[in-house]
Parts: sequence; structure tokens; C-alpha cells
Amino acid sequence: MGQDKKHAMGTKAVWGGEEGLFEGNATQVPVVHSVSFGYEDMDEWLDVALGKRSGHIYTRNTNPTVSVFEEKVRLLEGGEAATSASSGMGIISNTLFSLLKPGDRVVSVKDTYGGTNRMFSEFLPRVNVDVTLCDTTDHAAIEAEVAKGCTVLYLETPTNPTIKILDIERLAKAGKAVGAVVMADNTFATPVNQNPLALGADLVLHSATKYLGGHADALGGVAVGSTELIKTIYSYREIVGNVLEPMSAYLLLRGMKTLYLRIERQNANALEIARFLEGHPGVEKVFYPGLESHPGHEIARRQMRGFGGMLSFVAKGGTYEDACRVLSGLRLARRAANLGAVETIAGTPATTSHVECTREERAAMGIPESLIRYSVGIEDVEDLKADLDRALRQDA
Ligand SMILES: *Cc1c(COP(=O)(O)O)cnc(C)c1O
Repeated sequence: MGQDKKHAMGTKAVWGGEEGLFEGNATQVPVVHSVSFGYEDMDEWLDVALGKRSGHIYTRNTNPTVSVFEEKVRLLEGGEAATSASSGMGIISNTLFSLLKPGDRVVSVKDTYGGTNRMFSEFLPRVNVDVTLCDTTDHAAIEAEVAKGCTVLYLETPTNPTIKILDIERLAKAGKAVGAVVMADNTFATPVNQNPLALGADLVLHSATKYLGGHADALGGVAVGSTELIKTIYSYREIVGNVLEPMSAYLLLRGMKTLYLRIERQNANALEIARFLEGHPGVEKVFYPGLESHPGHEIARRQMRGFGGMLSFVAKGGTYEDACRVLSGLRLARRAANLGAVETIAGTPATTSHVECTREERAAMGIPESLIRYSVGIEDVEDLKADLDRALRQDA
């Protein structure tokens, strides 16, 4: 596709992958539900099947609607190629299983998304892949483990739910030195705020279910990287059948047209709310990389264009019950497991990101039971502040 590389993010979000007209001169991406694609000309069919000519054969392999979605994310992340899957965990598991074999070693951190953490603690060890999870805040310790040799260095930043920051450029350098494939889950930051490939990562992964789609109405996952790596992931996915539905691809594409606008607003709202909560008597601690008090603030300032819409905080009292009281008092927040939508969403790690873990495992990861995860929406920030203030005061 002829998308101009110099276009800025807001333009890419609207036009990326969609600059031509579609079938029947449609200006909007058609949802192609067809499972297969027919050919009158046997030579043309063979060429498409052999990859000599572009076209589609069967929707488990490629689909026109899904391809537009992959192309838009590819342009936003600035990579050579992209492939998708049925969900964020779909692309993460598919990527790990396609690139790893028995005897390989993965280095990652303790604070990855709960589902990813389960991959590391249960499913990869089952096929004899050795996984070492480091303290997320200790870059020297991560570098030391990477230096021992590994096949994959798996990063996620900002992390879920304590919003820690990893220095992608520094760690990617360490990974490259030992020939590891460096992966980064960019779900929280979005390509608007951070491009891991430009910082040295080999692969960037997204749960498109969150900010890319932005409306909490479609599941999806996507990976962007070199043509060679994406080909490996795609060939595995094609056989395993972990595919994105055309209707979901359409909903995600529709959401992505406003990605830039939404993220700009969510960055601004979250920073203002984080500052408000930091000064609130009903709050013990706030985790947000845009705050000067955040230990990862300097790194975040260097590698991010905005600090994102995710924050978390500990309500005064510090128990799970205190968190529940505040959560129950919120009127302008969905109490739900999702994040990254246009409406504000709040929950506790025990019911959201780390529902897969036991209380003891969460404690070992340094996740307080009293933590409230707050995904800031695009509402008027004054209304959100008033809502939080009321919920916190009724608690105090
Ligand atoms: C939600 C999430 C995932 C998993 O995505 P699904 O679409 O729910 O499968 C992976 N990583 C992060 C950071 C997430 O927030």
C-alpha cells in the first residue's frame, strides 16, 4: 500500500491501509464474511496460492477485512509486516509457541499481564522451555539474566497493574547482544505514545481488544515486526487456526480511526486525575508514570510521547475491603475486567488483570490487595474527579 511514511500518527490512524477505494467503489472497509475466494483462471489461482500474486484463498489464512486491520497497525507501529490473532492472548501465545522450541530459554519480568504470566509459569515449562522472571524494577538484574543467553527477551511496559516502566532501548540492546528476539507488549502505551520497534525491539504485540479498538466490543491481537519473524508467526497461526474474525477486524478498524484523538484525551485526563489523587487525603499511593514521584518517570519521558490512560492507586486503609468500598461508590466507571475503552473502567487486580493468580502469587508480585486499577476514559475530566472525590470521601 502506498501510505506515505511521513504522515503523522493522527493521519495514519484515519487513512492507514484505507487510502484506496474498496470493492464497488466503497469508501469504507467492507466486512468480507466469505470463507473462501474463488478463481475463474486456474493460473491466477495457482499464482495466488504460491504467493506470487496478491490475493486471498481461505479466511483461516488471509481475509480482506483482516488484512486492512493488520496494515493499519503495521503503519502505526512502523514495522515491515503484521499478523493478527483472535485475541491479545491469542497473538502472545501464538508468537511464543511459533518461535520457541524445547530447550530454549525466555527472560522476562514478574509484572507481565496475568495471562502472559501463566504462559511463563505453566505452559512454556510444560514443553521444556526454561523461563526466568526478573524483578521489573531491576534493570541490571534483567541484563545479567539476558547475558547468560536466551532465545526470547519478553518485555511489557507500562506494566499491569502497578504501571512500572521498563527501558526498552537499554534492554533491547542487551537482548540483541545475545541474539535474542526482543518482544514488547505495547497494549498499555499504544502506538500513539510509544513505538517499541523504533527503540530496538524486534516484535511489538498488542491486545487490540483494549485501546486499539477502544470500544470494548471486539477481541483481537496483533504482532508487528520484520517480514521474516512475522512469516514464522503467520505460518504457525495459519495451521493452529487462531484467527481474527472479519467482523471483529472491522470493529477494531472503526475504533482505530479515532485512536489518536482518544489517546490524546486519555493522556491528558489521566495525568490530571493522577495529580488530583496524589493530593487527595483518601489516597495512600498513586502509580502513574507521568508523576514526577514515579520511579520510572525519567525513562517514560524519554521513550513515551504521552504517559497513557492507565493508572492505579491504593485507597486509605489499605485492605481489599477499602478498595471495594471506593469502587462501589464510583458512578462514572464500569466495574469490569476490561481497560482502554472510551468509558472509564475500574477494578481490582484480584478481579481483573491477575484473576488467574492466587492471593499468594499476587503478593509475591508485589501487587497490594487494596490496589484499584483505573482505566481513564474520554469523559469530561471534572466529572471524573468529582466522582472519585465523592467515592473516596464517603470511604474516609
Ligand atoms: C488484556 C491484555 C492482554 C490479553 O489480551 P486479550 O485480548 O484479553 O486476550 C495482554 N496484554 C495486556 C497488557 C493486556 O492488557
